[in-house]
Amino acid sequence: MATITALETRDVRFPTSRHLDGSDAMNPDPDYSAAYVVLRTDETSDDGEPDGLAGYALAFTIGRGNDVQTVAVEALAHLVVGLDLDEVCADLGAFSRRLTDDSQLRWLGPEKGVMHMAIGAVVNAAWDLAARRAGLPLWRYLSDLTPAQLVACVDWRYLSDALTPAEALALLEEAAPGRAARRAELDRHGYPAYTTTPGWLGYSDEKLARLCREAVADGFGILKLKVGLSLDDDVRRLGVARAAVGPDVRIAVDANQRWDVDDAVRWLTALEPFDLAWIEEPTSPDDILAHARIRASVAVPVSTGEHTQNRTMFKQFLQAGAVDLLQIDAARVGGVNENLAILLLARKFGVPVFPHAGGVGLCEMVQHLAMADFVAISGSMEDRAVEYVDHLHEHFVDPVRVERGRYRPPTAPGMGARMWPASVEEHAFPDGAAWRPEPAAARLVARVPA
Ligand SMILES: [Mg+2]
Repeated sequence: MATITALETRDVRFPTSRHLDGSDAMNPDPDYSAAYVVLRTDETSDDGEPDGLAGYALAFTIGRGNDVQTVAVEALAHLVVGLDLDEVCADLGAFSRRLTDDSQLRWLGPEKGVMHMAIGAVVNAAWDLAARRAGLPLWRYLSDLTPAQLVACVDWRYLSDALTPAEALALLEEAAPGRAARRAELDRHGYPAYTTTPGWLGYSDEKLARLCREAVADGFGILKLKVGLSLDDDVRRLGVARAAVGPDVRIAVDANQRWDVDDAVRWLTALEPFDLAWIEEPTSPDDILAHARIRASVAVPVSTGEHTQNRTMFKQFLQAGAVDLLQIDAARVGGVNENLAILLLARKFGVPVFPHAGGVGLCEMVQHLAMADFVAISGSMEDRAVEYVDHLHEHFVDPVRVERGRYRPPTAPGMGARMWPASVEEHAFPDGAAWRPEPAAARLVARVPA
């Protein structure tokens, strides 16, 4: 009998704030970080891994607090270590509920915040493990599950006023006959991507214009700009971007929770002439009624989701008619299982999903959810795209492949979050080489004439 033998964690941080990559109105100097998780087993691996079969995932943070996130993951070890691998892989719904139902840890949420993100990372590592064991990329593994198996992955508690298991089963069965054709379509054409690379607030107008032109030349049909610090600056920057790309490329904007309702309405009314694709996170991610009021007051489509804590919140955004589109995140909610619930809710309400990514490893992971959604749940790539940011992919063993503005479907087994061991060591905080200060002696020598 094979078992899970260890839950290992590492505090891994990338010093991205040195170049203002990732800067926005709320997060001026992020150091993209990962509370990195490895689920070890005593099963040998088909791909010749000396340490045997393992599952890899991460919780994404932006620097300080990544140690807290890492300790939260470690607090789950007693629920995981020693479990029978066959049983875990056969019922990942039960595995996920086992983590969310720990009555003492549940007090720290419930199902929100640091502890829930920790659960998400461990649940995702278990899915990565199951998919690796099956020799399949996760999107393929998920889209091979039967409608009944997918329904059994979801924790249905708190959802029945919006969607019942029977309704979900009917939606999945309706989509089932087209799965093979959609897999073939994915293989041929990939999945649409949109890019945020040009639009960070810390970039100059010249850099913004150059990166916008490069993005269009690279095949992207949607770009996203950060907004929300200064209305005058945003009007100028959107003018620069629109002039650079012309009228046919869609431009979305992201305020990263910066505004109250009246600020949002004033700002978005002023930005309407730029024909925006959507406004993302205009206000508090917890304020469903404020999103509904903003949506009722402006012509720009309203979106949120990267900080939406759980399926119960997503349900209410949909029930309240507070959003035109949704953005799931692979590492915010309680892992693959809860994201399946959210994708099913979005399908029921007919709201398109534009997954949030970027950061570190988020593109690698969330592409699998978008592709499984296309094959087995919504059945549509129409008016959908996965965020893409060209940062930090070189640290992953199976980095995303984006060609001509589209994600190529991953072929390697797993969920994509496995990092190169050397990258983990170099960026381990605080002792990795990336975090060692420049030696004082070297600076001194440079200043002292020979
Ligand atoms: Mg965002």
